[in-house]
Order: sequence, then structure tokens, then C-alpha cells
Amino acid sequence: MTPADDAQSPTPASDRWALRRMRHDIRRRDCVVETVERLSPGMLRLVFRSPDLTDFPSASPDDHVKLMIPGPGGETIMRDYTPRAFDRTAGRLVIDFAVHDAGPATAWALAAKVGDTLVIGGPRGSTLLPEAVDWLVVIGDETALPAIGRRVEESPEGLTISGLAIVETQADVQTFETPAAWSPHWVLRDQVDVDDAAALIARLDEVIPKAGEGFFWVAAEARVARALRAHLIEVRGVDPRRIKAAGYWIRGAEGAHEPIE
Ligand SMILES: Cc1cc2nc3c(=O)[nH]c(=O)nc-3n(C[C@H](O)[C@H](O)[C@H](O)COP(=O)(O)OP(=O)(O)OC[C@H]3O[C@@H](n4cnc5c(N)ncnc54)[C@H](O)[C@@H]3O)c2cc1C
Repeated sequence: MTPADDAQSPTPASDRWALRRMRHDIRRRDCVVETVERLSPGMLRLVFRSPDLTDFPSASPDDHVKLMIPGPGGETIMRDYTPRAFDRTAGRLVIDFAVHDAGPATAWALAAKVGDTLVIGGPRGSTLLPEAVDWLVVIGDETALPAIGRRVEESPEGLTISGLAIVETQADVQTFETPAAWSPHWVLRDQVDVDDAAALIARLDEVIPKAGEGFFWVAAEARVARALRAHLIEVRGVDPRRIKAAGYWIRGAEGAHEPIE
């Protein structure tokens, strides 16, 4: 799919760092669990199948869908997840769940069996990162790993992309196939607390290329993402337009997230 498939707001060519936003028709899709796979101790992969997925729109690796989890009292609980991969022809959608002390989405995924059904809404839009960059740095935790993996796999030959990613254990480290020049740097959870940005900041020199101008993509627990963004701007003098940061979850808050850009 190309961005031209969707309505989009025009971006002045002069703004090298502008994000390009696209809107998609909002749709709810009835999906069936086709496979359940424990990718690693800390990551569960569900593949969903549906005839409704044959027009699934997702133009950016950090798009999100809304999982409509049935609540105990018949209510619907919505949680955001990344379309890790999709195949319109086959009507398939892959979602990776970071395994943590279960809220409703994590609990639903951990209990999911082949044949279970779930309504999935969206994505309602996509935000495309600037393309005329010398390099891209991606930083995130387990919840960002699906978006990071997709970003790396979809990056073109010639792009230098380096990553700083937190995972629980060495067994949770993932390998991505890509034509891009990808250099991952892993931080194990035993070296860093969930809302401690200092351990990530201490390793930034390993991932930021010395030459050229690039873009930073950050997604993690909200305090961590906010602290990283502030450090890049205030200490390293990075132009805020060169950063897209998001809190993918908030410690101690249910169903919470925070756009920080
Ligand atoms: C745009 C976007 C894309 C996302 N994509 C993904 C994805 O592809 N895969 C994925 O796994 N997550 C993803 N997330 C994060 C996910 O939405 C949250 O982790 C969500 O809170 C999980 O819902 P829950 O029902 O399990 O827990 P909730 O009911 O929301 O929370 C219950 C408790 O668990 C805590 N909690 C939530 N997440 C974590 C965590 N990761 N580690 C430790 N404690 C946590 C909360 O602070 C709360 O105290 C994404 C979030 C956003 C905003």
C-alpha cells in the first residue's frame, strides 16, 4: 500500500522534519485467533484471521489498533496494540503482546486459544516519519518492540537505523531481517527499572551516529519516554522536531498512554 491510498494533509516540502499524518476510515473487524506462539518468555504472538482484514490500512510501523476486550460485566475494555505485520491477501494480522502483570488485554492474550474471537478497531490514522534523514534511532521497551521490529524490517537499503531496546532477559532479544543497516543495542530489564530512564540515557552514545542529522523515535513507559525526550532536547541540543516520543503505558495506571511529541 502506498500513502496515496489514503486521505492525507499536505506537508510543505520545505519542512524536512515534518511528520506526515494520514487518516483511515474507522472500522471494527471481527477477527479469529489463528495461531498462538510464545516468541520468547516475555513476548506472546497471536495471529488473527478475518475476511474483514482484506482492506486493513496501516501505513506506518507505529500505527495502533484498538483491541476490544470483553470485560467481566459485559463492558468493552479497549487497549492499544501495534499491527506487527499484516497480509491483506490472506486476511491476516499479527499482534505481539508483551507479557507483564496482567491487565485485561494481557490476560485475554495469555488465555487465548485458536478459534477465539476478538473485535479489533482501527487504525484510525498513520503518522509517517520524515524520509530525508541520514539515520534513524529507535528507543523503546517491550511494548515498543513490535513497532521497532516492523520499522526495522520495513526500512530501506541505505538507511542507517540503530536501536536501544529494553527486554526482560537475554532470551527476549529478537532478530529482525532488513535490507537497512541495522545495529541493535539491548538493555536487559535486570539493569534498568521500568521508570528509570538513566540507564538508557547512559547508553545513548552507543546508538547516536556521530555524523549527519537523523530522527529519534521513542516509545516506553511514559516517564521514561518523557525523560529521554527532555534529555535529547535539553542536554544534547536536538531540535524537538527531530523527535517523536510516546508513553505507551503509565506505571500504576490502567489503559493509559501519553503522546509526548
Ligand atoms: C500506540 C501504542 C501501541 C502499543 N503497542 C503495543 C504492542 O504492540 N504490544 C504490547 O504489548 N503493548 C503495546 N502497547 C502498550 C499496551 O497498550 C499497554 O501495555 C496496556 O496497558 C496493556 O493493557 P493491559 O490491559 O494488559 O494492562 P492495563 O489494564 O492497561 O494495566 C494494568 C497494570 O499493568 C501496568 N502495565 C501496563 N503495561 C505494562 C508493561 N508493559 N509492563 C509492566 N506493567 C504494565 C499498568 O501500569 C497497570 O498498573 C501499546 C501502546 C500504545 C499507546
